[in-house]
Amino acid sequence: MYKIIPVDPFNLVLFGGTGDLARREILPGLYRRFHVGQIPRSSKIICVARKSYGKQEFSDFVKKAITENLDQHLIDQDTLAQFLSMVTYKSLDANDNENWESLKQSLDLSLITAFYLSVGPNIFSKIINNLDKFDLIRPNSRIVVEKPFGHDFDSSRELNNILSKVFSENQIYRIDHYLGKETVQNLMALRFGNVLFEPLWNSQYIDHIQITVAEKGGVEGRGEYYDNSGAMRDMVQNHLMQLLCLVAMEPPSIFSPDAVRDEKLKVIRSLEPLHHTDIVLGQYGSIGSEPSYKEDAGNPRSTTESYIALKCKISNWRWANTAFYLRTGKRLRKRVSEIAVVFKDLPHSIFQDHPQINGNVLAIRLQPNEGINMTVTIKEPGPGGMRLIEVPLDMSFAKSLNQEVGNLTKAYERLIMDVIRGNQTLFMRGDEVEAAWQWTDKVISCWEKHRKTPQIYDPYTSGPEEAYMLTNKDQRRWREIEI
Ligand code: NAD
Repeated sequence: MYKIIPVDPFNLVLFGGTGDLARREILPGLYRRFHVGQIPRSSKIICVARKSYGKQEFSDFVKKAITENLDQHLIDQDTLAQFLSMVTYKSLDANDNENWESLKQSLDLSLITAFYLSVGPNIFSKIINNLDKFDLIRPNSRIVVEKPFGHDFDSSRELNNILSKVFSENQIYRIDHYLGKETVQNLMALRFGNVLFEPLWNSQYIDHIQITVAEKGGVEGRGEYYDNSGAMRDMVQNHLMQLLCLVAMEPPSIFSPDAVRDEKLKVIRSLEPLHHTDIVLGQYGSIGSEPSYKEDAGNPRSTTESYIALKCKISNWRWANTAFYLRTGKRLRKRVSEIAVVFKDLPHSIFQDHPQINGNVLAIRLQPNEGINMTVTIKEPGPGGMRLIEVPLDMSFAKSLNQEVGNLTKAYERLIMDVIRGNQTLFMRGDEVEAAWQWTDKVISCWEKHRKTPQIYDPYTSGPEEAYMLTNKDQRRWREIEI
């Protein structure tokens, strides 16, 4: 059993406390941490939004958010009642000056105070400025910023400037919930806690790496936002690039926030500019009565990509000429996120019946069924000579540690506890985000310059045909999108 180390009592001011993210992830996640004894009872959670709520009405809202989004076995009525007594609501419009003073009065600012911006980016700066104007910031304050962190390099720098006027970098937590996943951290443990992998972790032994974030859902409900963003800005710039950094970075000298982030930054800065033939854009069509992307986005002339595949290269000693294939899209066959490290084929086979033996594949699965899997070649059991087969070597930690996968700490709750503990390792630093945008902007202007438009693909497939060519022309294949 793992040990729970309680955090110090804190205030969490959750701007956007009635929104979708608060309801589905943040409030249930906080409840789980309270339930296991990590959050002290003297902590306060203050949800802030525009709507006005009665005390009971808000308490019912929080209760519903928890009961609807957590397994019933985690819900214990006494614990839930205690948790509800810690959560209060403050009606406040970020755009005006009212109620900020009363928010301040409700907080003991000598405690660690985290301001969580779970609101649209259009009001980030308003809230940050008002926190300063109404004197809510202390040295032990922290600010948590949700994605999107800017729309391009200029806007990300502008947001960094706004933040750095009132917070120091060690108070700023730019969240990318992919980094809070158990397996993502296990990737670091696997690479840097074992002698087995690191000597092979380079272009000499690794043929290529694939990073896939496939979603089954479309953009329904957020079509207008998505149409101004697209898969490159919405997914690649943050989630996929962060995964790329963790898989490709050099070993930091120590597992400390800045040492890890320094190494990630070097990866981003070493990314080569892309050629337009290394970019594939796609957009989902319609199926049956289900609308197409254009219909979901409410824009019949939209050329926004709901799918993107890229072939990237990192120009440094370790990775020279190794292909990193990245792809992400909506309305694909399954909801799957994984990193697959594909090792080179054996240079020579001693087995006459098997003249070619495929390289091992290390697959790091983020969702669903978090875990790590390694394909190895073994002898097929039984008589009949030396027949070789490839089998998956299951390295799921939940099983060996006697834990149910469902009981693993979820990304948001882990990250919020890290905020309270003041551990920034799994959060993006300002220079990292800006560098990621700089590269992203170049990729977008490359395809715009070549007037690339998305190829329409059939929903619930693996994406546009063109994407196959991206790997086929290198004599490689995408892994199947399957559970
Ligand atoms: P949402 O629209 O459901 O909720 C927005 C919240 O902000 C609501 O509580 C609303 O009342 C509040 N709000 C809006 N204007 C306000 C104002 N002027 N003053 C005070 N409060 C105001 O949005 P969401 O889906 O919860 O997303 C919140 C943020 O998190 C966004 O930046 C989004 O990009 C990001 N995010 C969301 C998800 C998700 O799964 N929903 C995932 C990752 C990131």
